[in-house]
Amino acid sequence: MIDPPLPGRPAAQPHPAGVPPTAAHLLAGRVLYQENTRYRARVRTSVDPRLSGVVLTGKKADDRAVQLREAGYDGVLLIDSAPYVTYAATPDEPFLLPHDTLFPSLEDCLDFQRGRGADAALTPTGYIRVADSKSLKAVMVAAERIERDDTVVVLPIDIAWLNSAHIEQFIAVCKRIRQPKAVILIRQFDPMDAFKETTVNLRRLVREAEQVALLRTDLAALDAMAHGALFAGIGADSSIRHAVPVGERPQKAESNTGWAQYPHVLMPELMCFSDARALARRYANAEPARCDCPVCDGRGLDRFTSAEGETRIESENHNAYVWGAWVNEMANVTPESERRRWWRDRCARALGRYALENVRIEQPHAFKAPKPLRAWATLPVDDETPTPTENARRGVSSAAG
Ligand SMILES: [Zn+2]
Repeated sequence: MIDPPLPGRPAAQPHPAGVPPTAAHLLAGRVLYQENTRYRARVRTSVDPRLSGVVLTGKKADDRAVQLREAGYDGVLLIDSAPYVTYAATPDEPFLLPHDTLFPSLEDCLDFQRGRGADAALTPTGYIRVADSKSLKAVMVAAERIERDDTVVVLPIDIAWLNSAHIEQFIAVCKRIRQPKAVILIRQFDPMDAFKETTVNLRRLVREAEQVALLRTDLAALDAMAHGALFAGIGADSSIRHAVPVGERPQKAESNTGWAQYPHVLMPELMCFSDARALARRYANAEPARCDCPVCDGRGLDRFTSAEGETRIESENHNAYVWGAWVNEMANVTPESERRRWWRDRCARALGRYALENVRIEQPHAFKAPKPLRAWATLPVDDETPTPTENARRGVSSAAG
């Protein structure tokens, strides 16, 4: 398994001077900030150039990339036009290639991204339905023909590929793809809530298949990094932290109407994203939780109660500063076994704070720990995480969820 060269320790194979870095060298150890291209991208001081970078995510990603470069952004940049949102991979056409040329090729599509300012190119892979082995293998076969080393093979998969019925096959295919692989988990709501074994199997995937990244996610990015992922990406807003299957509209939780419009605020102590309006309600008669990041400067986290403009940008910058500080801290924890423990302990501390916060604001059920956080806080890390096969052999069920 690859040892990601997180800043703070040398890469296994130092990059030769004067040669453009490969995608793997460039992206190793980074947790990227995924901007929603519905809005004009901006140069953000909340994105650390050493440990992060930007993935422009959405339909206008290529135009936004040009704008961002023109605005002076010189950090790591990827273009994710998100074809998997509208296009499902088929065995004959696993990629969505432009239809405005006579003979569209994958090569043209990758060149186009580089020409628009991307430091590495992402394959325009369609959504891979669960158990659609033929389309998954078509991606693998096409990847075998890619000779350039500036490319990341995107695998936008139905979350059920990670359950016990399919994980073996998915890992086997990933092992056959020699390029870095960016997995995007697709499902309604939080994909990490989908199956008990999701967290266990995701860790197993990054452990067993080399150079696996996790894009378009939330704090699952940090769990993946702690367990050996090459790089990861965290979405600026809820719609970019998750993706839904082709042909489905994003559903909204009843308790959380409007989550697509209002900011979701990252709570530093509780390690969860919370809807801004729910926060305002919970803290209406109590001292709000406060934040010391450069944006908040000690102010309360109940203040992001607007869907547009400066409030949205301020909340996004707060989020990026908060998780960016964790990435920074993690980068300095070595060796890898220690990093996994550091992450587990941090999650466990956050888990313990839910009851305290609910008591403090006298609302017993106000904050409820997300299932993935429970899993990150409680799954074993001292030895290699047992695989489902090993668990089955021992006769124990997964501890996740
Ligand atoms: Zn803050």
